Amino acid sequence: TNDAILAKYGELGRDIREILITEDQIRQKVLELGERISQDYADKNPVLVGVLKGVLFLMADLLRVITIPSEVDFLAVASYSAEARQRGMVRLIKDLEIPIDGRHVLFVEDVIDTGLTLGYLLRSLRDRNPASLEVCVLFNKPAHRLIDIPLKYKGFDLPDRFVVGYGLDYNEKYRNLPFIGVLKPDVLKGKT
Ligand code: 5GP
Ligand code: MG
Ligand code: MG
Repeated sequence: TNDAILAKYGELGRDIREILITEDQIRQKVLELGERISQDYADKNPVLVGVLKGVLFLMADLLRVITIPSEVDFLAVASYSAEARQRGMVRLIKDLEIPIDGRHVLFVEDVIDTGLTLGYLLRSLRDRNPASLEVCVLFNKPAHRLIDIPLKYKGFDLPDRFVVGYGLDYNEKYRNLPFIGVLKPDVLKGKT
């Protein structure tokens, strides 16, 4: 049961109000995405690109179920205030190491909310003339979307709630939870 799962995680589990997506549901979905990607990118040697650190678990699990040759690389961005992001400000603090011109690039994202961060990064990658550029997102939160981003591979649509687990943090905590959960209100303090 969910109670037993939460109990296993002690103080972390006690902060969780509700499990929205279970570890099994995530595993099954990632497997499906990996199968589709393996078919679509056969003979294309795609470069999977992710933004640290939230994508860590998804990227590792996805790579393990992809059955074709591929490469992986990461970006890191500085976190700005929501106001700064709305003005399109995203500062790269770590760029890709693999040149992507002429390559088939699959951008792998853990969660998309407004889409501002991803929109900026996609423009930056498109400027480098990849052969193709598509997006794979596991958790899509459509409620606050500000820019339209075509999602070729999509896992789950999530309600407009702040979630943690499977790489997603709150103040760097809860990334290690293998499910997606909602924090108790007294833990969140101001987050929605
Ligand atoms: P954006 O609003 O630009 O689409 O999302 C920016 C970033 O906010 C995401 O990459 C992610 O780091 C964070 N984020 C958005 N929604 C959530 C959420 O529900 N939980 C957590 N932990 N982070 C989120
Ligand atoms: Mg992310
Ligand atoms: Mg975060």
